[in-house]
Amino acid sequence: MEIEIQLTGSPIAEKISPPQLAAHGAWLEFRGAVRDEENGVKISALEYEAYAEMAVREIRRLLEALSPRHFCLAAKVIHRIGIVPAGEAAIYVGIASRHRAEAIALLGEFMNGLKQAVPIWKRRALPANFVGDEVTSLKSKGIRNQPETPHVVSYNSKIRSLDEAMAEIQSRCESLPAVRVSLEESFGRVLRETVCAPEDLPPVDRSTRDGYAVLSNDESEAFFVVDTIHAADWKPRQLKSGETVRVATGATLPCDGLRVAMQENVERNGDQIRIIKREAGLNLRKRGEDVKAGQPLVQSGVRLDAGKLALLATAGCAQPLVNPRLRVAHFTTGDEIIPPEQMPKPGQIRDSNSILIRGLLQNFPCDVTQKHLPENFESAKSQITNHKSQIENADVLLVSGGASVGDKDFTRPLLEWLGFEIVFSQVNVRPGRPLIFGVNGNRITFGLPGNPLSHFVCFHLFVAVALAKLTGQETPGFFRGKLAENLEDAPCPRETLWPARLEFTNGELRLRPLKWSSSGDITCLTETNALIRVPMNQGSIETGAAVDFLPTQDSASSLSLIFNLRPARRLSYDDCI
Ligand code: AMP
Ligand code: MG
Repeated sequence: MEIEIQLTGSPIAEKISPPQLAAHGAWLEFRGAVRDEENGVKISALEYEAYAEMAVREIRRLLEALSPRHFCLAAKVIHRIGIVPAGEAAIYVGIASRHRAEAIALLGEFMNGLKQAVPIWKRRALPANFVGDEVTSLKSKGIRNQPETPHVVSYNSKIRSLDEAMAEIQSRCESLPAVRVSLEESFGRVLRETVCAPEDLPPVDRSTRDGYAVLSNDESEAFFVVDTIHAADWKPRQLKSGETVRVATGATLPCDGLRVAMQENVERNGDQIRIIKREAGLNLRKRGEDVKAGQPLVQSGVRLDAGKLALLATAGCAQPLVNPRLRVAHFTTGDEIIPPEQMPKPGQIRDSNSILIRGLLQNFPCDVTQKHLPENFESAKSQITNHKSQIENADVLLVSGGASVGDKDFTRPLLEWLGFEIVFSQVNVRPGRPLIFGVNGNRITFGLPGNPLSHFVCFHLFVAVALAKLTGQETPGFFRGKLAENLEDAPCPRETLWPARLEFTNGELRLRPLKWSSSGDITCLTETNALIRVPMNQGSIETGAAVDFLPTQDSASSLSLIFNLRPARRLSYDDCI
């Protein structure tokens, strides 16, 4: 079979001459024009994007796979990429077969397969009144096959700045519906309601000592012991002058206006006591001393740790309203990747991303499934088909590797095949530029560049932001701190997230930039607890200069403790440096 495939940014010619072989049978031509309506809305044009090399390969593979069933002499496929105005053809297919019926059958199946298997997609529809330069400039771009990016055609898929990407992620993620679960199950989850004190805490005046309760103004020489009250007792009675009640620590005092004399400061003789040393304090916890009824105990949006759970238990909130456990599916890609326990052959690399992702996810109660995908689009798709329900049930789908422009990088078409709308696929940061973010209803996906350092950075910059939104927390933000040492770097046209060690020495916070030279470096991760944000084209920064930084997971919580601030509130602690 003779096959000719073109992806083009130019209009498809009105007349296309059939191949010579067509003279031996039927020549069927099909043109698919852009309609002036998309999902019921009037439009002026559609914009198409493609992974050009992969698309050409897939079109060829599709035709070859169909030809044994529908004999075909020759096929010609032309697909337009970029802006295609309504009324103009986006696709042309010419098929030469022995009989017209064969050509028609092949065309039908080919068009179905094209939609499913070929990485060409509608990027957006332009509104009906859309005019002006953008159409012209996009149209003139045509198909790019520049030497530095030989495999990808990315039409106007605007690279996002770090701030744009973070904002877009926040705006596209909704918090998941909250659930009520037991206290044990709530650990680490985000409280989604503010829990208030149902009553005064403590609800009654309680003794803080083992001793003897007497009227606080009673100056009697000796007291007659009229009762004994243990912690579990409830024995209200009004004491008179010269009377005392033996009380245990935690016991509910019998009436108001009492103080407790410590047992150590009392002499007892039968039912009589004498206070030999009078203490300054009352030795009791007053009703409502900790918190008054109705006051907030734990605010909505905070992560439940041991202390907060203890408070909820005290207040009788045994089924708090919290975020559901996140369901995360994580795929690794790359035929070079082997499990950590294996000895790598030349060219192989041990999988470090699986454990890295699992570890980083520990801060977000979630159920994680992890799988490795073969580095072949078709095999990957069939493996995924076998686990489709896991993916369909996942709130978050993470794919490690294959997010870039290499021959075998299929993460983007894979995510599109799974029904995700790709919101962006590049962010102007180092490391981690090829970062894919997509949404499908309230499910989200990230295609993360494979290098472990890029993974680490992208997780903190982007995935953690999304997880915070999904779970109902405030999203992480940057702090300001001072450099402990020079940060040596050449100016870079991207913003850099520089691994650093945040240290608290001599009462001051200081950031020590760590050594790294490429996103493949992983040794710096043993010390990294912060990422310094180096502005684009900045170059080196001197010791003592103030810089923005993002605390990474472990330091984020200790930092908020040190400063009694939640990093999420984007507060700076300039005052402290
Ligand atoms: P990719 O993003 O697929 O182009 O991969 C970029 C680099 O990251 C390559 O050197 C990969 O071998 C490496 N890499 C990809 N996945 C992993 C992984 N799971 N663990 C460690 N390195 C990886
Ligand atoms: Mg790869």
